[in-house]
Amino acid sequence: MKKIRLDKFLSDLGFGSRKEVKKLIKQKRVQVNDRTVNNPSFTIDIQKDSVYLDGELLQYNEHHYYMFNKPSGYITAKEDKTHPVVMEFFEDNPFYRKLFPVGRLDIDTEGLLLITDDGQLSHRIAHPKWEVEKEYYAVVKGDISSEKLDRYEKEGIKFKNFTTKPFKIKVLSSSPEKSEILITVKEGKHHIVKKIMEKIGYPVLYLKRIRIGNLKLDESLEPGEYRELTEEELKNLK
Ligand code: URA
Repeated sequence: MKKIRLDKFLSDLGFGSRKEVKKLIKQKRVQVNDRTVNNPSFTIDIQKDSVYLDGELLQYNEHHYYMFNKPSGYITAKEDKTHPVVMEFFEDNPFYRKLFPVGRLDIDTEGLLLITDDGQLSHRIAHPKWEVEKEYYAVVKGDISSEKLDRYEKEGIKFKNFTTKPFKIKVLSSSPEKSEILITVKEGKHHIVKKIMEKIGYPVLYLKRIRIGNLKLDESLEPGEYRELTEEELKNLK
């Protein structure tokens, strides 16, 4: 049983600030079950009670989850003094104040970024303990086709102060100048793909994240566009 105030319920659903939704309630536009309620502090049980606005049944979601196709040139942050930030794309979203990006993509990296107001989910996805896979499409410098890449699936690679978890590289195409690859890593360390590829000898020229765990980037989203996760996507992510 979860009880919340009616004004919070409406505000969480994006109908405005507490002050704004109070007006809706005072205008007698809100019903709980079969009665009109004009008290904003009226408490409801979100599992049992049915809430209607102008006769329409409302579905309560405490949290919000968006898939964003990050364009290059934006910092993964809410604010920055010198660069544009990804959250600019969400300024008109009713939940803007509470939303934040999960993890981080570099300024020049494109692709899948999860934006939410669910701190628990964010923590779980970003936490190394859960080893959530992240897959990237990358264009790298040089011809990688003759490298023995299997070994990285067993042991990862060593840096001065850490060793990566095992990772996977699949070659999609190659020429003497550059290769296209898919690389799947299980960690969220800063610049991890660029560091790995630099170390192997094939520096990254272009990078785009295409998957986090079971969640694949919807290729119909143009860079800078976002959409809500479907129920199915959310279920598979949790
Ligand atoms: N690895 C990188 O090097 N950059 C990113 O943006 C993400 C992973």
